[in-house]
Amino acid sequence: MESKEVLLVNCVGEYIVISIQEFNALLTNPFAIHSDTFKLLKCKNFFTDYDLELAIEMLATKLRTRKAFLRNFTSLHMVVLTAHCNGRCDYCHASSSDVAKGPLSQNMRPDVADAVVDMIFMSPSQYIKIEFQGGEPLINWEVLVRIVHRAKKINKTANKKLEFVVCTNMTLLDYDKVKFLMKEGIQISTSLDGPKELHDLHRKMRDGSSSYDKFIENLSIVCRVMEAESVSPLLTITRDHLKRLPEVIDEYIRLGFKGIFLRSLNPYGFAREDLAALGYSMEEFIEAYKEGFDYILQKNRNGVHFVEYFATLILSRILTPFSTGFVDLQFPAGAGISGVIYDYDGCVYPSDEARMLARTGDKKFLLGNVIDNSYEEIFEGNKLKSIISMSCAEVMPGCTSCVYQAYCGSDPVRNYVESGDVMGFRPSSDFCKKNMGIIDFLFKYILENNEQVMDIFWSWITGRSLEDVRL
Ligand code: SF4
Repeated sequence: MESKEVLLVNCVGEYIVISIQEFNALLTNPFAIHSDTFKLLKCKNFFTDYDLELAIEMLATKLRTRKAFLRNFTSLHMVVLTAHCNGRCDYCHASSSDVAKGPLSQNMRPDVADAVVDMIFMSPSQYIKIEFQGGEPLINWEVLVRIVHRAKKINKTANKKLEFVVCTNMTLLDYDKVKFLMKEGIQISTSLDGPKELHDLHRKMRDGSSSYDKFIENLSIVCRVMEAESVSPLLTITRDHLKRLPEVIDEYIRLGFKGIFLRSLNPYGFAREDLAALGYSMEEFIEAYKEGFDYILQKNRNGVHFVEYFATLILSRILTPFSTGFVDLQFPAGAGISGVIYDYDGCVYPSDEARMLARTGDKKFLLGNVIDNSYEEIFEGNKLKSIISMSCAEVMPGCTSCVYQAYCGSDPVRNYVESGDVMGFRPSSDFCKKNMGIIDFLFKYILENNEQVMDIFWSWITGRSLEDVRL
């Protein structure tokens, strides 16, 4: 966009770019109803000069579509099966504890697991995703199996759309476990930080072995038994990755993965302790992101279908009227109302980050415990209501007047960690800096309107091949 142009976005995310002269003319003469600009703005529901009620009804319908995630209430239920791990990654957000030291006192007990499943099925949502987390959740394999069986049994009468994901470093997988995951339809979310040297640099095993070698060995078992799409890796970008994202992307493509999520380091757990060695400024991240993104775009131009997932989420928010289900890109925040996490001891937190914060001793976001509290006390209590009421863009200073409000979201826990205040302070917020920087960057591509690039964007959004999109 030229600096002499103005981007206008309304509350339902429709946008238009007009010249500064047109913008000034509208301000000084808003009744220039015969101008082309006015007609365009009218089409996109910025203005109306006829039936006001009808215009409001149309806007309301569009807003309902964008906020459809509110209808479902909590659908993502993360269950921490253990706080122990056989790895000791430098940036571990969950501050995992050693598996070799003493009894596994931080494993979820069977009775707690049963209470967690019972509470999950109290959610009014018709769609339930249970995501197993840790530590390394495979350490508590028996409880994982127990939860899957109990949830499926309850679901025979509850009749919800039920899905499972296990977030694992894959080092403890074996053929029998993979067969169970396949039989029960459990997806694998894992971690891959690039080629061997880069992956092993911060993803360390407590016994000193290479986490990459074990990952590759077990990936081959998984690929023999399950469909390739059942595995999706996550990248954690440290200071050492900033200049090497093309190498990481090449490794993902080499191993057959279809996309990557270029995400910045979160300031929780061990990552927070080691921030000086692992971290970087948000400006540095955005520069690295742009380089990685352009590299991916070039791959797509060369015929390799490979997706950048964060951009895809934002592009969906800009180019379609739908919500994405991604809890960090929605107002109000998804904390508790879209996703929730049950710690190994039954404590319930509105987000994974809140649980990580609690591991460092700050239990500000603790909602209750599945053993001691009822569903109503946890999910309808004042604490969750207060968190949610402070995560609506309409009341958040800075976001209220931001042009990107319709595409962005909020993270009350991150706000609290960054500024000591749940509502946060936008001028110094890294969350805001990142979203604003990346939305700015993507808007440049959108407004250039290059046919090939837009086809690539639509192939990412719709999950279809480029050929399909072109047809
Ligand atoms: S970019 Fe920043 S100010 Fe704008 S809506 Fe997002 S968080 Fe709020």
